[in-house]
Amino acid sequence: MTEYAPPLRDIRFAFEGVCDLPSLLALDDFSHVEADMVFAVLDEVGRFAAEVIAPTNVDGDRIGAQLIAGSDTDDGWAAVTTPESFRAAYAKLVESGFNAIPFEPDFGGGGFPWLVALAVQEMFTSGNMAFSLCNLLTQGSIDALQHHGSDEMKATYLPKMLTGEWSGTMNLSEPQAGSDVGAVATKAVPTGRDDGSYAISGTKIWITHGEQDLTDNIVHLVLARTPDAKPGTRGISMFLVPKFIPNDDGSLGDRNDVEVVSIEHKLGIHGSPTCVLSFGEKQNVHEAGAIGWLVGDEFTGMANMFTMMNNARLSVGLQGLSIAEMAYQHSLAYAHERLQGTAPGAERGVQSPIIDHPDVRRMLMTQRSWIDAMRYLMYFNGAMLDRSRSTDPEIAEWSERLAALLIPMSKSIGADVGNELTSIAVQIFGGMGYVEETGAAQYLRDVRIAAIYEGTNGIQGQDLVMRKLGGDQGSTVNQFIASFDDTVAALAAAPATKRFAEQLAESFDDARRAGDWLIANDSTLDKLGGATPYTRLLGTALCGALCGKAALAAQAKIDGGDASDDDQAFYDSKIVSARFFGEQILPSTSGLAAAVMAGADDLFAIPADQF
Ligand SMILES: Cc1cc2nc3c(=O)[nH]c(=O)nc-3n(C[C@H](O)[C@H](O)[C@H](O)COP(=O)(O)OP(=O)(O)OC[C@H]3O[C@@H](n4cnc5c(N)ncnc54)[C@H](O)[C@@H]3O)c2cc1C
Repeated sequence: MTEYAPPLRDIRFAFEGVCDLPSLLALDDFSHVEADMVFAVLDEVGRFAAEVIAPTNVDGDRIGAQLIAGSDTDDGWAAVTTPESFRAAYAKLVESGFNAIPFEPDFGGGGFPWLVALAVQEMFTSGNMAFSLCNLLTQGSIDALQHHGSDEMKATYLPKMLTGEWSGTMNLSEPQAGSDVGAVATKAVPTGRDDGSYAISGTKIWITHGEQDLTDNIVHLVLARTPDAKPGTRGISMFLVPKFIPNDDGSLGDRNDVEVVSIEHKLGIHGSPTCVLSFGEKQNVHEAGAIGWLVGDEFTGMANMFTMMNNARLSVGLQGLSIAEMAYQHSLAYAHERLQGTAPGAERGVQSPIIDHPDVRRMLMTQRSWIDAMRYLMYFNGAMLDRSRSTDPEIAEWSERLAALLIPMSKSIGADVGNELTSIAVQIFGGMGYVEETGAAQYLRDVRIAAIYEGTNGIQGQDLVMRKLGGDQGSTVNQFIASFDDTVAALAAAPATKRFAEQLAESFDDARRAGDWLIANDSTLDKLGGATPYTRLLGTALCGALCGKAALAAQAKIDGGDASDDDQAFYDSKIVSARFFGEQILPSTSGLAAAVMAGADDLFAIPADQF
């Protein structure tokens, strides 16, 4: 199934009700952008996602990416093909200009807030996750070059990358260097040429869209070690290694010595080539290796990567939301169509649509409520990244700190809950969910990777507890929680949301108790052992708080008196969805707090060889 209804109204509500779009657009950097413009662009993007991208999704899964050995290509270089429908859709994407929406106008970008780029990503990913990964990696590479590239690099590469004519990749992983990026061994040796180039040699694995037939050139950003590099992350530098080295006039020049060796056969995202890339192996082009240029200073490779890491991690969390949304839409349609049993209150002997069974309703409400909550969390997080560009130093500092705090939660809640919700979609389809033809199984397979790449969810938990919570002894967390005092009070004042308010206060209490316990505890084992449940606990509590904000915004719209019947039904549904989160999902925080504070003793009570 490929039908996709872009959730434009939900996105708009999140922008206005939770992210305070007008104040964001009032920042100097966005003064050329108006709210109407934002929603007009998103309308177009939604149409494109539904009509051009979503129809390629099944091809991606069934045909997938294919490796062609060098012995079978005209030029002798191994290649990767994607489905024909991908190539046609990608050409239209380049024409559309949508790739450039959030980037610097100097290089052809639209200069829109990152928040808008997130909504574009959401819709493209819902349409086809494997296809949209090409853009995602290109956007990350653009981000890194915008911040750290030389003027010459920017002028040569950015305009073509912004249109999408050239793509970008991120080359961190090697067989011995996964989560442990400090173990990277790829070498970079100065060539001694006047152009300051380096010869890069080594093997990178799992490089997303590392080779493909969608773009004219591929710009690889590669982490490698120079001859004098110290061991560990402090000895890593970043290099730009283009597949074709551009001539001075920008046209494509020599083929560089980087070649795809193999592509992975994997659980999902079959249309996204996951490549083993070999640098400097062929040696019939350049003697010493692939030719690359340093991005930023020597030994700043990890810091450079971290610049774009926040955006990249948020984008991966968003993949969970996007696929959960698509899976929800399809399972909802099935719940209306599929007749089974007689629901409570229905005429005896007449089969009811399964949507009338309370357990199916529970599944649908869980999907819907979490999807709303994740959208609020991730868009709020994106808006904070944008607000960190404020000219008011206090707002900029707070927004940057808050955005950084939220990133590990956006990433891991998005990925984990995305997995859970796509699994629920399979359950709603019953046996038909387990067979491939409904497409529900593809969503489950595709989304699984989100918890693994861009820093596993385990690593996100460590980042949250050790760096973000521990870094300032809980001050940012507690300040953010306290900022919801008015939200709790306003929810408590209305009978329909009183219980929600009480639960939110209890969940905040759970988060504070667990956070204080982790901070006060000197045992690293206890901190690391509790990191994953703490991430889910704090993330869930904050999702609840943002649902509270959303419920109040929806109520204000209704109270405004000029909502049509259709609008009124929409806002009512947002209040119910938020209340369901408050009353039926938020209570999980007390169990999570208990798990955090149980400590790590039992994790190590059984010796490793007894497992
Ligand atoms: C489809 C796909 C696409 C990818 N795309 C790219 C790409 O474009 N570029 C790129 O560079 N890489 C890419 N990767 C690699 C990806 O980022 C790594 O798989 C990921 O970083 C995890 O590394 P690993 O697989 O070696 O797992 P490991 O690091 O071996 O981890 C295995 C398990 O141990 C846990 N673990 C490891 N270390 C610790 C620790 N210190 N503390 C606690 N737990 C720990 C992990 O959380 C995990 O559960 C991709 C991978 C896949 C599968």
